[in-house]
Amino acid sequence: MLTKTKIYLSSPHMGGAEQKYVAQAFDSNWIAPLGPNVDGFEDAIKHYLGNDCDVAALSSGTAAIHIALRLLGIGVGDEVICQSFTFAASANPILYEGATPIFVDSELETWNMDPYLLEKAIIDRIHKNKTPKAIIAVHLYGVPYKAHAIQTIAKKYGIPVIEDSAEAFGSTYYGKPCGTLADFGILSFNGNKIITTSGGGALICKDPSLKKRAVFLATQARDDAAHYEHSSIGFNYRMSNVLAGIGRGQMEVLDLRVEARRRNYEYYKRHLSECNSITFLEEPTGCFSNRWITCISTDAFETRERIRKALLQDDIESRPLWKPMHLQPVFMHCLSYTNGVSEDLFNRGLCLPSGSNLDTDDLNRIIAIIKKSLNS
Ligand SMILES: *Cc1c(COP(=O)(O)O)cnc(C)c1O
Repeated sequence: MLTKTKIYLSSPHMGGAEQKYVAQAFDSNWIAPLGPNVDGFEDAIKHYLGNDCDVAALSSGTAAIHIALRLLGIGVGDEVICQSFTFAASANPILYEGATPIFVDSELETWNMDPYLLEKAIIDRIHKNKTPKAIIAVHLYGVPYKAHAIQTIAKKYGIPVIEDSAEAFGSTYYGKPCGTLADFGILSFNGNKIITTSGGGALICKDPSLKKRAVFLATQARDDAAHYEHSSIGFNYRMSNVLAGIGRGQMEVLDLRVEARRRNYEYYKRHLSECNSITFLEEPTGCFSNRWITCISTDAFETRERIRKALLQDDIESRPLWKPMHLQPVFMHCLSYTNGVSEDLFNRGLCLPSGSNLDTDDLNRIIAIIKKSLNS
């Protein structure tokens, strides 16, 4: 009997050149959080983003958000507005700094931060004499947030924006690469992302002095001296030269990975078009999504669960959409501005297997099970 293999939601997909760069790290004994691969990886990212930025390779996307908050001078008692519909890593660094998160719900078109609610939150906080110190907006599942509207509001009130582009490397907004749309951008190279270094991230800065400061903070904040001298608190957040070798190899195939994931999306959409209880997250005008994950929303919680359980029975991993932060036990006490959109999506939405290494047989197997689960 043929045994079916497990299908994962989003698994690593090496391109081939990774081991060459990793071998170079070994051959030259650059087994450290600095070296030619770190420089090469940063250059490749910078080039991909159009050269109009500076890039610091770090140990994770979470670390990149933390450093961005530190560079913005966020501290104890400050308020930071964060998209509620996201992964907890978008918000956790706010707490690392002793600051207070304020969560803002999503709009229906992109599933990202609702500009109307954002402005409402800002005005409300200003009336209470607490002007928010930063905004963290997220391109969820690779679909760009409404950057024009968010940026206009942020500018109006003089609040810097951190662009959480962890899921959107390869996406663009009116031709501009995601990660370069705000004051700081962050990327993630965790194992499930569109390209991976097994674990890693990057901070995207607007000028070289900010990158220099970021690298300084990420390497224990060592002052210029022969001995170890410190006048500020640092972190151990730099990327390893071994892992940056994987990153260099992955950069060579990033465009292919985007193509493959977009193909997955189109295939699902075409073959599930007859299913009236399923709708797809669309690509808004002016936006190009890397389609990191193909997301659907169903007509009811029960439908979503029926599909998810049927897939699980066949050893296929799918997952409900992110549980909004304002509904998480750890953040429930925090102030939030909601409209029901993300809670509803959480209840009815599902992430389908979306790896760039899925083949047509895999997709057909998944689609057949979804259709069967809907007809049973
Ligand atoms: C993955 C992810 C992060 C965190 O990245 P790590 O590299 O895993 O620390 C942050 N925000 C979002 C939206 C993510 O999906």
